[in-house]
Amino acid sequence: MSELTRLPIHQLQAILQSGEASAEEVCSAYLERIEKIDGVLGAYISTQPERAIRQAQDVDKARASGRELGPLAGIPLAIKDVLCLKDSPATCGSRILESFVPPFDATAVERLRNAGAVFPGKANMDEFAMGSSNEYSAYHPAKNPWDIERAPGGSSGGSAAAVSAELAAGSLGTDTGGSVRQPAAFCGIVALKPTYGRVSRFGLVAFGSSLDVVGPITRCVKDSALLLNVIAGADNRDSTCLPAAVPDYTANLESSLPGLRVGVPKEVFTEGLDNQVRTAFENTTRMLEQLGAEIMAIELPHMRYSIPAYYIVACAEASSNLARYDGIRYGLRVPDYQDMRDQYRRTRNSGFGPEVKRRIMLGTFVLSSGYYDAYYLKGIQVRALIKSDFAKAFETVDLIATPTTPSPAFKLGEKVDDPIQMYLADIFTVTANLAGIPAISLNCGFSKERLPIGFQLLAPHLGEERLLHAAYKLEEALDLLQDGPPVDEEIL
Ligand code: GLN
Repeated sequence: MSELTRLPIHQLQAILQSGEASAEEVCSAYLERIEKIDGVLGAYISTQPERAIRQAQDVDKARASGRELGPLAGIPLAIKDVLCLKDSPATCGSRILESFVPPFDATAVERLRNAGAVFPGKANMDEFAMGSSNEYSAYHPAKNPWDIERAPGGSSGGSAAAVSAELAAGSLGTDTGGSVRQPAAFCGIVALKPTYGRVSRFGLVAFGSSLDVVGPITRCVKDSALLLNVIAGADNRDSTCLPAAVPDYTANLESSLPGLRVGVPKEVFTEGLDNQVRTAFENTTRMLEQLGAEIMAIELPHMRYSIPAYYIVACAEASSNLARYDGIRYGLRVPDYQDMRDQYRRTRNSGFGPEVKRRIMLGTFVLSSGYYDAYYLKGIQVRALIKSDFAKAFETVDLIATPTTPSPAFKLGEKVDDPIQMYLADIFTVTANLAGIPAISLNCGFSKERLPIGFQLLAPHLGEERLLHAAYKLEEALDLLQDGPPVDEEIL
């Protein structure tokens, strides 16, 4: 019954509840596909098939005994390798953590587990979530299911490839500057970056602590709401996690859309914007208009500084966060060292890949005395201006729309040696992280080469309900959910 893997989470829930299929059957169908396809696709760094089957059997037993089950009972979800999943490796895509097996779950993972989810494996990613193509994974790149010569995006590229190619029903990714939205756009699916602090960061290996957030990657908007329901909410193990009550994000999706004002920043129409992306974006905003929204031109004057500001702040925080990998407490320790300094040097030199080293150096530089004022301080000042641009815009509009990425998926190898080009792929996503606001990406059409194109909506702080509602209605109007990637024809 391979059709089982085709179903989005909310339909799979119904099938499992009615007994039409067992959790074990669902899990086996996914494991079979992983076995067949993932050797080429590379969406997972590690899989734990026996344990997943046992989890699924436990769900079936509990159901048979009449016990009340959680909302995700028997749903196979891939967990990005930067999140701790108890007793599974959490390499973060890095050699330095190759042997790190956390003895605990991240809060978001624990909540999925308590809701009954099944975990087939850990999803591939750029090393320490730094990258936009998955090519910086120390293990192997993941490939785009729409064209395996192209990048699935990054850094949650394995998560997005897995969900798009039906190797998981959904996934948890993380987003510091676009890492759930950009790969979702490249792979034709949905990803939500929640408000900073809406989801606990406990058990998420830190990259940029003031930017990082855990978010769902799914095939449709309703599934995104379902997963957010489970993972959102206060956690006393993360002091930045917001105490705000968690509404049922699925409750209002079907109701008709109130007359929303949607702002389109004039800054999105830059030189770097691909023509096909522009056309798809304009068609989609017209569709929003047909749904009753009023489209308004707005200005985000500091958006053009968002890439430098983001790369200064993110690298500064990364250089501090990654100082803990010293070969003593976690993971890799290179033998044959002369003294402690030598041991640090050798361990870090062979444990970190080139992009991580670049960021540690950039971050250390912008924080160093003499350069702090010129770079880091400027970076956080620009960040404050970007935040106030959004605050001003949201005085007159309810949502903001932009393309998710300036172009559809690029070829593997195309940007890997040119960090600036790679960084520019994040132009439309980093602003939401700098401002701490929620944003969602959904597929809005295809290029001539039949590559998916992402549409992004942004909402004010804690505006996830409005965001999901608008995205749901738009997804319904776009009517593209039946279009899946040609991955089977390409690989099998
Ligand atoms: N691509 C961005 C970067 O390389 C974003 C990464 C992320 O969101 N984790 O930093």
